[in-house]
Amino acid sequence: MYLYNSATHKKEEFVTHTPNHVEMYTCGPTVYHFAHIGNLRSYIMEDVLEKALRWRGYDVNRVMNITDVGHLASDADTGEDKMLKGAKRENKSVMDIAKFYTDAFFDDCKKLNIKTPDVVQPATGLIDEFIKVVSALIDKEYAYVAGGNVYFDTSKLDRYYVFNDHDEEDLAVGVREGVEEDANKRNKNDFVLWFTKSKFEDQALKWDSPWGVGYPGWHIECSCISMKFNGEYLDLHCGGVDNAFPHHTNEIAQSEAYLGHPWCKQWFHVHHLNTNSGKMSKSKGEFLTVSLLEEKGYDPLAYRFFCLQSHYRKGLVFTWENLDNAVGAYNKLIKRVAALGGDDGAVDQGVLGACADKFGEALDNDLNTSMAVTCVYDALKADTNAATKRAIIGSYDLVLGLDLIKKADALREKEAAQAKTAGADGFTIQGEGDPAIDALVLQRAEAKKAKNFAEADRIRDELKAQGIEVTDVPGGAVWKRV
Ligand SMILES: [Zn+2]
Repeated sequence: MYLYNSATHKKEEFVTHTPNHVEMYTCGPTVYHFAHIGNLRSYIMEDVLEKALRWRGYDVNRVMNITDVGHLASDADTGEDKMLKGAKRENKSVMDIAKFYTDAFFDDCKKLNIKTPDVVQPATGLIDEFIKVVSALIDKEYAYVAGGNVYFDTSKLDRYYVFNDHDEEDLAVGVREGVEEDANKRNKNDFVLWFTKSKFEDQALKWDSPWGVGYPGWHIECSCISMKFNGEYLDLHCGGVDNAFPHHTNEIAQSEAYLGHPWCKQWFHVHHLNTNSGKMSKSKGEFLTVSLLEEKGYDPLAYRFFCLQSHYRKGLVFTWENLDNAVGAYNKLIKRVAALGGDDGAVDQGVLGACADKFGEALDNDLNTSMAVTCVYDALKADTNAATKRAIIGSYDLVLGLDLIKKADALREKEAAQAKTAGADGFTIQGEGDPAIDALVLQRAEAKKAKNFAEADRIRDELKAQGIEVTDVPGGAVWKRV
């Protein structure tokens, strides 16, 4: 498999430390609010990547953190403490907020067919580990105490990694823009590993440490959680492109300083979901959630389909019109799969293998999901029987996660219920799948046939009272709720 690596700025063959095994880490959510669908785009694409690796035969151990304490890298960072902000907004404790929004995040993931990682670790559950690593960084002279806080000393590194084409000077200015300088720092890029003194004095969660009562910085949690559950060699680190600098840069700095050897080779960054007016964010009033999509009648999996239609390294523009187009295409695709019928017949293994090769090529080409979706249409057109087509699509859907077979079968069942035949002479009733109404419509037809028009009218009035309109058609009747 070839993937673009943000650390080297090129597409490279994906090579793991242990053959056929992937240690994978994902930066998880800060659980102070609902995730917006822009955040969820990253998790959808990372889920496809994980499933593509498994489909390719790798054994994957995927780890994710939950940021439930602080969200600070330095007192000078653009910072409000997001968890505190959430707690104040809703007049709840920080832990209540964390629990509520962690559950909400995984509910959204479930609706979007995003698999839960093998390990999910809230930051508050691993404080001792953070203290151990920060102590070791001080012992190795990669960290220093100033003004009550512990800082990482970026000047001690041979190379301070960056993920884009700017030089460090530009990035440092970018990060400082509009933000007061933290006078305790020795170097402009230094960042806090442990706070005991902060401008956020009302921080609710604090722990004892060798440097006083305080709480961890944000970057250290990802390094520690990964090193604990993925081991010393991480194969693949994922996140939104926002996280590349300074968060991931600082994760590399800490982890490699601690371990004394290179840490993670492959970095996978998913680009933004944009609106017509720019990047989608919580603060700009364009706060779109999975619940909102559902309230408006959208199937969350249609949003997943929308995301898969474009490449993860390109910005994706969200408009309702674009989503409607994706919904139309998704529903049409399900109808075409439904039209294949059931699983009757033998699967042609030769055709199955050839299609798998093409699908694999799409995945191997830097996770080309739009090409992978095109493979589904190719399978529908393939010169083979319906059972083979269903087997191919079922296999692709292990990666795509669009529930194509499940939804197609449900659609066929619904249609079968709507077009049921009743009566000895093949009288057909087409309705909305309600057996009680079907029975009344049939009684009315039988009364008419027996020329008992008073009874037929009585039943029609009874149906009308229930809001049902019946139309006679050749050989049967159609009813609907009006
Ligand atoms: Zn992280």
